[in-house]
Amino acid sequence: MSLFSSEAPLGGPFDHPAKDDGLKHLGPMQRIKAPQRCFNDSDLVDYALVGVGSAGGVLVQRLARAGFKVIGFEAGPFWDTERQWVSDEAGSRNLYWNDLRITGGKDPLALGSNNSGKGVGGGSVHWASFVPRLHPSDFEVYTRDGVGADWPIDYEDIEPYYELLEREMPVAGPAYYPWGKPHGHPYGPHPMGEVGNVLIKGCTALGIPVSAGGPVAILSASHGNRPHCIYRGFCIQGCKVGAKASTLITHVPDALAHGAEIRDNAMVSRIGMGKNGSVNGVHYFDAEGIEHFQRARAVIVCGYALETPRLLFNSACPGHEFGLANSSGTLGKYLMAQAGNVILGRFDNLIRQYKAPPAHALTEEFYETDPKRDFARGFAVQTVGPLPIAFAKQMMTAKGLWGWGLRRAMMDYNHWSPLGLLGEILPWEDNRIEVADGRNGRQEAYDKFGLPVAQVTFSLRDNDKRLIEFGKNKVMDIMRAAGATEVVQEQRYAHLVGGARMSATADTGVCDKFGRTWDVPNLFVMDGSVFPTQGSANPGLTIQALAARTADYLLMQGESIFTSKARDLSNPPCRRDLSPT
Ligand SMILES: Cc1cc2nc3c(=O)[nH]c(=O)nc-3n(C[C@H](O)[C@H](O)[C@H](O)COP(=O)(O)OP(=O)(O)OC[C@H]3O[C@@H](n4cnc5c(N)ncnc54)[C@H](O)[C@@H]3O)c2cc1C
Ligand code: SF4
Repeated sequence: MSLFSSEAPLGGPFDHPAKDDGLKHLGPMQRIKAPQRCFNDSDLVDYALVGVGSAGGVLVQRLARAGFKVIGFEAGPFWDTERQWVSDEAGSRNLYWNDLRITGGKDPLALGSNNSGKGVGGGSVHWASFVPRLHPSDFEVYTRDGVGADWPIDYEDIEPYYELLEREMPVAGPAYYPWGKPHGHPYGPHPMGEVGNVLIKGCTALGIPVSAGGPVAILSASHGNRPHCIYRGFCIQGCKVGAKASTLITHVPDALAHGAEIRDNAMVSRIGMGKNGSVNGVHYFDAEGIEHFQRARAVIVCGYALETPRLLFNSACPGHEFGLANSSGTLGKYLMAQAGNVILGRFDNLIRQYKAPPAHALTEEFYETDPKRDFARGFAVQTVGPLPIAFAKQMMTAKGLWGWGLRRAMMDYNHWSPLGLLGEILPWEDNRIEVADGRNGRQEAYDKFGLPVAQVTFSLRDNDKRLIEFGKNKVMDIMRAAGATEVVQEQRYAHLVGGARMSATADTGVCDKFGRTWDVPNLFVMDGSVFPTQGSANPGLTIQALAARTADYLLMQGESIFTSKARDLSNPPCRRDLSPT
């Protein structure tokens, strides 16, 4: 039985003990983890969510508001932003998933601070919060270009959720954004930093349109308790003041206020299978390393493109020997990263790249397939803002500097402007995540709980290489047109998605268009791993929009999700009333 009956779909505020708990003297950021509702392992909750990051934060909030009993399991801590976050580049390392992962292939991905987060808010805590939408063409890449795959949804299915999440974050940007399907933004654009001015100057000289001041989920004016941005560029170190949107501050407080439990420092090790082909809960390790089992009527895995397939593989059991929800054989496959080359230009005038959010201007003029080019799909060019340690690493890679040479380059930091390429790498079957369990030629490595870690294989194909070469040269042209006296570049990747893709049919993917797995009726996947293709937009807005849509689907389905194997693929109404207040 749910605490809140399905006849009364809105749960309403949860009357938790924090209301008059003497914590009123604390600021709003410290009050986030006020005393919260706690379930027992023996309680049968409606939903156990694995991972409270970008997608999980949105889902847990909506399910709690709708009155479901819901627990969000999170491997990392519930951040105390006042005490644990520092305005220090090296000190922010713990925001990332730093545990061992194995990387390989011809073009191995750097894993660690290049990808997922760990802790409540997940990757939205350290993201730069650039939030462009996907374009309508992204949903039918195979039909249009004969490469990649089509999504089982189209742009119109997700459009209302883009609008909704842009208001919930909220997003600052120009009143008219021309690319994809043109649209506006709820908050006005940010002023330009010097890196943005470099992009504008270079693009204007070459006749390339630029979007100035967003789209970015950073406040250009105060919003409720949250102050506007103070323009000191520590966004990917965790914004201490709360001007940058993360689900930790935009959705989790509302989830707690409506009766969700966020169980932090709780690493889910395996999903439990019942006798009737349905899942029945999750096994997890608590902060002391003690293993528990939490009963649940349905499980939603929101663990990120790497950890979600890893957990499904590690949950293999009789009847699902090759991993849960893997009858198609696609689990772990079609992993994607975006090309994320950083191009650095030296200018005689001062740039001071840290004096603005890294994300504040971009062009999507090269986003779509152009038959005049020798590759399919395209790329965006964006402002980025490496702080000194990242800049030093880029200089080491780009120029081979060390010792005195590197010191001289560091003393010149304020004269360098970075720009980032964001290029669409296509989904290839053999770019994949497996688990390092020592079987079938795989390596063998375990984490501190004895769980096989993720083993990642990644190689570029010809289309990817041609796209990167063209895009890199285009950004270098822009940099020179802006007046750079020296231009260098570092090849890197960004934004991992895929590995548990959604599909129109059960034999081509892991889950349907709402994240419901094809094989197990009460098991869902909802995070960046469900992307069939990725476009050259940063993925975070789409991830959160998809999560909100799945929540609406679950509400529409009600109790039948827990009890029925029937699959209703009709679209739910968009529940704007479930937005956090
Ligand atoms: C430096 C940087 C900058 C970025 N900037 C942008 C940007 O500007 N715009 C943008 O759109 N995207 C950006 N991204 C990418 C973005 O942050 C991610 O794509 C997004 O957060 C992924 O969302 P998710 O829900 O898939 O996973 P996450 O947000 O990573 O959430 C997954 C959560 O699940 C938890 N978890 C995993 N496994 C388990 C388990 N077994 N048990 C319990 N918990 C578990 C993790 O600890 C984590 O908190 C950036 C990424 C990086 C690294
Ligand atoms: S630049 Fe703005 S959004 Fe970024 S950390 Fe500083 S205050 Fe936060």
